Amino acid sequence: MVSPMSKYIFVTGGVVSSVGKGITVASIGTILKSRQISVTAQKLDPYLNVDPGTMSPYQHGEVFVTQDGAETDLDLGNYERFIDVNLTTESSVTSGQIYSHVIAKERRGDFLGGTIQVVPHVTSEIKDRFKKLAEKSKADVVIIEVGGTVGDIEGLPFLEAARQMRNEVGRDNILYVHVTLLPYLNSTKELKTKPTQHSVNELRRIGIQPDIIVCRSDYPISEEIRNKISLFCDVERKAVIPLTTVPTIYEVPLVLEEEGLGELITDKMKLKPQPPDLSQWQELVNLFKTPRQPVKIALVGKYVELQDAYFSVREALQHAILYHGRDLELVWVPSETLENDGDDSILRTVQGIIVPGGFGIRGIEGMVRAATYARENKIPYLGLCLGMHVMVIEFGRYALGSKDANSTEFNADTPHPVIDFLPDQKGQKIKGGTMRLGNYPCKLVDGSRAAKAYGQSLIEERHRHRYEFNNEYRERLEKAGMVYSGLSPDGRLVEVCEVADHPWMLACQFHPEFGSRPGHPHPLFRDFIGAAKDILREGAQPPLPLSSQY
Ligand code: GLN
Repeated sequence: MVSPMSKYIFVTGGVVSSVGKGITVASIGTILKSRQISVTAQKLDPYLNVDPGTMSPYQHGEVFVTQDGAETDLDLGNYERFIDVNLTTESSVTSGQIYSHVIAKERRGDFLGGTIQVVPHVTSEIKDRFKKLAEKSKADVVIIEVGGTVGDIEGLPFLEAARQMRNEVGRDNILYVHVTLLPYLNSTKELKTKPTQHSVNELRRIGIQPDIIVCRSDYPISEEIRNKISLFCDVERKAVIPLTTVPTIYEVPLVLEEEGLGELITDKMKLKPQPPDLSQWQELVNLFKTPRQPVKIALVGKYVELQDAYFSVREALQHAILYHGRDLELVWVPSETLENDGDDSILRTVQGIIVPGGFGIRGIEGMVRAATYARENKIPYLGLCLGMHVMVIEFGRYALGSKDANSTEFNADTPHPVIDFLPDQKGQKIKGGTMRLGNYPCKLVDGSRAAKAYGQSLIEERHRHRYEFNNEYRERLEKAGMVYSGLSPDGRLVEVCEVADHPWMLACQFHPEFGSRPGHPHPLFRDFIGAAKDILREGAQPPLPLSSQY
């Protein structure tokens, strides 16, 4: 039997970027999934990099890693968390991938005799990516986010491909959603619709008439404004969906549902839904809005000025905090400020320290200082990838009595390379896509904190790194109290380590943050917060009963 064809929803953005298009895509996924409609999602990024793996987090925010090892845009993390699916390489498409593929084909002679053009060659390659994901996922609906804003030069081939799809799959099988911003003018105290009208005009010029307009705003959107957008942009009144800023992104599916978006989409696309069930999301949001005792966590990293660089880490902390019925008080500590005896007084106030992933030497000594503080003062510590390297360097210095212990990433000539280049990567010069990426198995040691957290002995987690624990130091560090609680199944690679004489000091070579979901916190984050919440700092009171939960 031929499987029924997938339908496509294209989501474009207007006016400005960063208005929450990705969260809207993710939330559309949630509301469809809540009706038993299977969904998957894809992000189209117009830049010419093949993937964001080589971009600075300052440019792009976090690099999200899929289980099959693709380095992708952070929006994929939101899709995974909201739709609760594990996406694959096919969900991430960049102009760089498309062009390099088309040019490789041309060199191979696949188009012999032809002139290679944006239309149809580039657009066909793009459409192939849509169809490939539909085929592979067999989802009822493929939601595709066109990155950037309508009007960007780079985004045009993607929009053109999205337009062409309408004739290929038919009107009932495609839907165009446009997400715009309604700016607020303080002088006249009103929201303005003109930029939205312009961006819809721009879309129409390309041949796309939006079916639905989602209007982002920091202020309530009146009926009058909705009517105006409906009239000027030629969409049904009920298809103008207001989305005012909410305190937590996890409320967005509830707001869109409340505004009738779920029914609108299923009607327009002639889908056969079950009644929606968003009770899990409602519970989460109710919990979020209940007053809760804070747990103060320091995130010590080098890119903290741009919090998007740690998007999944922050979300994973949030999931764990809600699980414990607590509130997250996250202090962002630029690791450089802790270097050279810089002020570390902030560490004295926190109940847990997290050192996330990162690359390069800047700020490393500050992170090591934070790890020393955590070890000596018995403050819970969670190290993620680079955070594990930092913990091992710190412990190495203590165990070997040498301040020179280091990773060869930061000091190629260190006499004690406790962290070193992956043996099979020596001599590797190319930077793009050459790391150990994606899921690898790990065996946990019975009785360890890691095994206790996971409740199972064989796990798989996502990786993105070049450097490893150096096995030549295993014994010496073990004698000083380091426990290797997770190893690759062949025993060759240290995947998780812990400090024995400590309430909770654990680090992993992988990135657990990518696997955490609202309502299902990752076990390591859950237990890290579990340990941190019981830490009382000087002068602090035990939690007072703020709500009926206590
Ligand atoms: N820079 C380290 C490495 O390449 C850690 C990478 C990371 O934290 N993702 O191994």
